[in-house]
Amino acid sequence: MNYISTRGAHKEGASSAYAIKTGLAADGGLFMPENIPQIDLEAIKDMSALSYPERAAKILSMFLTDYSYDELLCDAMAAYSADKFIPSPTPITELSGRKYMLELWHGPTCAFKDMALQIMPRLFTRALRKCGEEREALILVATSGDTGKAALEGYKNVPGTKIQVFYPIDGVSQVQKKQMQTQEGDNLSVIGICGNFDDAQNGVKRIFSDREFASKLDGEGVFLSSANSINWGRLVPQVVYYISAYCDMYSSGAIQLGEEIDVCVPTGNFGNIFACYIAKLMGLPVGKLVCASNKNNILTDFIESGIYDRNREFYTTMSPSMDILISSNLERLLYLLFGSERCAALMSELKENGKYALTADELRMVRESFVGYCTDENDCQATIKRIFENEKRLIDTHTSVAVSAAERYMSDHEARSAMLVVSTASAYKFAGDVLLSLTGAKPENDLDAPATLNALTGWQIPAPLSSALSGKPIHLDVYDKDDMDKAVCSFLFG
Ligand SMILES: *Cc1c(COP(=O)(O)O)cnc(C)c1O
Repeated sequence: MNYISTRGAHKEGASSAYAIKTGLAADGGLFMPENIPQIDLEAIKDMSALSYPERAAKILSMFLTDYSYDELLCDAMAAYSADKFIPSPTPITELSGRKYMLELWHGPTCAFKDMALQIMPRLFTRALRKCGEEREALILVATSGDTGKAALEGYKNVPGTKIQVFYPIDGVSQVQKKQMQTQEGDNLSVIGICGNFDDAQNGVKRIFSDREFASKLDGEGVFLSSANSINWGRLVPQVVYYISAYCDMYSSGAIQLGEEIDVCVPTGNFGNIFACYIAKLMGLPVGKLVCASNKNNILTDFIESGIYDRNREFYTTMSPSMDILISSNLERLLYLLFGSERCAALMSELKENGKYALTADELRMVRESFVGYCTDENDCQATIKRIFENEKRLIDTHTSVAVSAAERYMSDHEARSAMLVVSTASAYKFAGDVLLSLTGAKPENDLDAPATLNALTGWQIPAPLSSALSGKPIHLDVYDKDDMDKAVCSFLFG
């Protein structure tokens, strides 16, 4: 399977290892497989008998053809082992009215990014070797919270790599800070920055573009890389859990083999929902994809009107992982539907004017598969409370946005298909706002919220989160925003 750019570069085709090693295509586009492999109902039926890592190895091997099945199985078994995903990687729970929740937050950081970031580092180190790269990779990450922790857990102790994470010392939640400061592993560094997230981000960009610094590192056998969310190696593992969820729904008798399901995804960067679209194109019986947004509803507007316009106010909400104005992976959808030339034109319009508009025909193509709903802060809180009281399930603020969207979609369309709602974080990860939703108040100190929520609901705090909360902070280094290169040198060379 060859990979090409959404904007037309790499016409001759790049290998999957090259796409994963490089991340971004030469023309600034994103890597996509040249064609979409197909599965039929027989294959789905056969996969139903397999474990999650076996399903993952099978599906990944259709896309990553320069990896052997055994390599992929080895990586999937290590990534999704029972000591990392408790009790299992992707349990499904039933809600009323033919709704099912796919819980993707049973991994080490209690949010769905673990599903990709547990396996991506393994695919990445293999990609380096397959491409003949002999140097060690230093992954640099600037984070406003969740990605940093998930990347640390993913790259922790992975041979041939080191990882260094920079976060704004006063710009992440207390819980997030504690999670990062207590991180264990012998190949990593966590640095607080005096500055905001943009300062941390700009600092990392500056280091990446510093040629002198790069050649100094090269002399020491090190090169810089990123764990970017647009890397194909982060996207393709997400296709797996949609097919796997369908297998599980079939096995449990929730659906018949071949029956269409609808899927609702709380969306930010459009990665998770796009992975579901790929599964649909592969032949998985998926009907509509409901794109759920919070108050930052640029995607709802886009799916409604065909106009993508980032010239708008940015809101900080209680579902911060969806507070996004540029959904990078949407580019992959534009490419699949309209081709690389049109995709490149739309992307350059977005760059120049901050907006673009589809034609009526193009919009119709988007709406064949997608429908958008947005949820405001009040509705998000009310949904958490209602689901807890009526269904005895504790959901987080992101999942709540999706549940609300799924309910409105089903009632607006008198939908009869089973609805799979994707649950992307443990309620304990956003315990303060979940408490606020349930009781109208939250503790002064963020760090007290999980225990208070636990006392109120009796729901167990996930083990990784409670051990982080009670753990001893070991990463306390703080650097000025202008001294981040010094932090890199100190980490690498002591
Ligand atoms: C990242 C994230 C999302 C958004 O997923 P995208 O792939 O960016 O659309 C939703 N919920 C949670 C909890 C997340 O961490």
